[in-house]
Amino acid sequence: MGRRRRSDELTDTLTKRSRGGDFCPKCGAFVRWVRLDTGRWIATDPEPVIYRDDGKEWLVVGNKWDGYINKGCQIWRPGDPTTDTRKGRRIHAFNCK
Ligand SMILES: [Zn+2]
Repeated sequence: MGRRRRSDELTDTLTKRSRGGDFCPKCGAFVRWVRLDTGRWIATDPEPVIYRDDGKEWLVVGNKWDGYINKGCQIWRPGDPTTDTRKGRRIHAFNCK
C-alpha cells in the first residue's frame, strides 16, 4: 500500500456521489458543496483561503463543475511570499468541530 493508494482512499471518503445539505450534520456549520471534475461532490468551508503551491495541505480549487482537490497546498500566512498565490477552500471534514 503506497502513499498514493491511501490518498485515493481518503479522497473517496471525503467525497460524495451527490450534494448534501447546506449545513454539516455533525457540527451544524454552513458548508459549500463543490462538484469536482470527477463528478463527485465535496463539502468545503464557505470562505476561501489564500494558498501557494508548495505544501502538503489539501484544498479544493474551482467552483462549480470544474473543482479538484489540490493536494500540494500551503495556506498563506503573514510573512509568506505574496507571489503565485491562489484561492482555494478548506475541506470541511478536516475543519469540522
Ligand atoms: Zn462539521
